[in-house]
Amino acid sequence: MPGLWYNAHAPEYEQKASRSIIHPFNVRGYSGLTINPYQGCQHRCAYCYATYEWSPEFYDRIYAKSNAPEILERELASWKGTKVDPVMVSSATDAYQPAELRYGLTRKCVQVLQKYKVPYYVFTKSAIIERDLELHTKYRDNCFIVWSVTTCNEQIRRIVEPGTPPAARIFEAIEKFTLAGVPCGVNVDPIMPLVTDSEREIGAVVEACRRAGVKHIFGAMLRLRTDIWDRMKAALALLGVEDGIERYKKLYGFEEPLAASYVACDKDYSKQITGMLEEMVRAGGMKSDFPDHLGTREIDRSCTGQKTILSYVAT
Ligand code: SF4
Repeated sequence: MPGLWYNAHAPEYEQKASRSIIHPFNVRGYSGLTINPYQGCQHRCAYCYATYEWSPEFYDRIYAKSNAPEILERELASWKGTKVDPVMVSSATDAYQPAELRYGLTRKCVQVLQKYKVPYYVFTKSAIIERDLELHTKYRDNCFIVWSVTTCNEQIRRIVEPGTPPAARIFEAIEKFTLAGVPCGVNVDPIMPLVTDSEREIGAVVEACRRAGVKHIFGAMLRLRTDIWDRMKAALALLGVEDGIERYKKLYGFEEPLAASYVACDKDYSKQITGMLEEMVRAGGMKSDFPDHLGTREIDRSCTGQKTILSYVAT
């Protein structure tokens, strides 16, 4: 499907140097710091918010920011101020996508964050993070690992996010982290109306979380934007959702062409679905928010001048 998200070919990889790596971000009222060791993402989610006109090859050409760990070290060593907010790894790509097995940049960046005692949280859809179980475990008081899981339904996953591992594989990885005592969360985001928003679909994710020992589950409804809507229209057709396009237009309150800025789902509908998720989370003895242990910290520059041993061996 040219121009959309589906492609049977593996992406091309390219390395490039970056001038900076820590950036502020603001998503839906949440703000903080983020690092993105890669640009582009092989997970190929139809609903991806990180795509845009400036990245037409987002799914097909992955850029590895080859100097990311060194730039990160330099930025932390010369950090203005004494405190640092938790760093999100990553906001505009998946830091544990397959490219990480080749380049190991995320692992090296995490080593630098740990060296400077910077708190961090990881958002991923991958099981590749298992490789760094030991690394994150030794830092468990200062990190939080979140997996984005939208569905346990393989038929839906293969169409909507064909480059991700099956949910069963992700939950295997999650369980290893919870057993090691690493704080873990699951982000059910985006919840796609008429696709993953039924009691059965959401219930399956919540139950898998409960079994894997996840303590924190949150989620949000899909937002639409011109390019996301183009992909979602194709996904709705592939999934055979009856009158999907018309029902989406009603739920999101728009007529074609859709504006380029984000459009949110009907408030009452959203409340009903996210309320159902929260109720299930409560009933399973889990929580709908972030844990308290992550906060602004004094940056530790006592290590400045020491050579960082960045380790990574490609598998
Ligand atoms: S994993 Fe995240 S960044 Fe990658 S394609 Fe999916 S939504 Fe986009």
